[in-house]
Amino acid sequence: MTPDEFRLHGHALIEWIASYRERAQSGQFDVIPRTAPWPAGEPVQPGALRARLPAEAPQQPEEFAAVLADLDRLILPACTHWQDPRFFGYFPSNGLFSAVLGDLASTGLGQLGLNWQASPALTELEEVTTDWLRRMLGLSESWRGVIHDTASSATLVALVCARERTSDFAATARGLAASDAPLVVYTSSQSHSSVEKAALIAGFGRAQLRSIVVDEAFAMRADALEQAIRADRAAGLKPCAIVATTGTTATTALDPIADCARIAADHGLWLHVDAAMAGSAMIVPECRGLWDGIEGADSLVVNPHKWLGVSFDCSAYYVRDPQHLVRTMSSNPSYLRTATDAVATSYRDWGVPLGRRMRALKLWFVLREQGVMGLQARIRRDLASARWLAAQVDAPEAQAAGWRRIAPVPLQTVCVRHEPPALCGDGAALDRHTLDWVGRINASGQAWLTPGIVDGRWIVRVAIGAEATQLQHVREVWALMRQTAEQAGG
Ligand code: PLP
Repeated sequence: MTPDEFRLHGHALIEWIASYRERAQSGQFDVIPRTAPWPAGEPVQPGALRARLPAEAPQQPEEFAAVLADLDRLILPACTHWQDPRFFGYFPSNGLFSAVLGDLASTGLGQLGLNWQASPALTELEEVTTDWLRRMLGLSESWRGVIHDTASSATLVALVCARERTSDFAATARGLAASDAPLVVYTSSQSHSSVEKAALIAGFGRAQLRSIVVDEAFAMRADALEQAIRADRAAGLKPCAIVATTGTTATTALDPIADCARIAADHGLWLHVDAAMAGSAMIVPECRGLWDGIEGADSLVVNPHKWLGVSFDCSAYYVRDPQHLVRTMSSNPSYLRTATDAVATSYRDWGVPLGRRMRALKLWFVLREQGVMGLQARIRRDLASARWLAAQVDAPEAQAAGWRRIAPVPLQTVCVRHEPPALCGDGAALDRHTLDWVGRINASGQAWLTPGIVDGRWIVRVAIGAEATQLQHVREVWALMRQTAEQAGG
């Protein structure tokens, strides 16, 4: 492709993306993909796109215009529309236009950060943008940031560092055999599955992962945490790390970070805080009490690729002491050595991959295009929408119709269940009812909600925060929920 052809197709693609966003954000698609003819078709089934694609790559070059045309013909009909204002599933994953352009600029520059020399701009922009974000989050100057792909990677790195600090860096030298006693990780029963995965990959083993009970607000119980640590120590095990969560996935519960930090300090454990989704809220000062005590943590992760508006993937990992990262993960083959190694940051030693792309560009674009105040306004809008919905569920009329709010609403997710009187006391029937009404809504394409299990029973999460979601869309989904569930419940 020549530069002129690139200009031609690039402009066409930008136009296509702008038009797609306009259509998605004005609700012109069903939120989930459906088979033609729209809107009457059935939800797309697994294999639908594969069946339409050739089994092999083309032998001869194709016209690029044909590739672009297939975005509409093949790809779009198999996409779930996360940018639709009626997307209330999982968590918000906003990719603001400025982030889209930042990603394009990053790929266009084609930088690869193997060390500072391989792309000075990549390293230094990452240092600066993670520091901007640190200030926005209200964190002290003692934190240093790095951008990972995901929170899962960041938590893995945290646990590997915890393992090394506890073993006095013996495991990096001699492997797991170096440990005279099994190392133990503590996390709440509500923490994200990535914590368990990280503990397994980091070599702790499932038997050494303690699932600490939670209180009525689904937050880790500090007394139970401390008891478990004492019991393990008495049994000859080595307590190593606590992974606390600010904003759990199911209900946005808030583990008591100050208590966890005190316990970690008293017992010499590493404290990692998973604020993957909720961390974005800390850019508004009134939310910072939700992770009170954060300065006592050793590491934390916030995903700007969730609620902040930076397109996936962009996960900001902060540590107090980067030397733990470097001592644990430093690799220094001759072909990567440069004269600046002693004075410049080498981010390859701060995580798993050697090659790193310029993710900081999209964060930089978003922070500059939105400004801190613009981002704060959007977070506050979503917090207010969630409070509005919680108030509707709590209102006497909704209560009389069987609606229950299942958890506190400190952030943007409202967890509900519809409990028709006829089903009270029959948990299995209640579960069927919940999955039935949420399934109907999702299959209709008029909204997307994700159910989850809390306290052994299915509930429905309404995760507010897509860029285009205004209060009006929350009003509409609440009306749809009432209509669907109350009809289904008889
Ligand atoms: N931690 C929490 C609290 C989450 O909600 C999620 C995503 O759902 C994750 C971690 C995993 O995020 P990532 O996809 O960046 O690994």
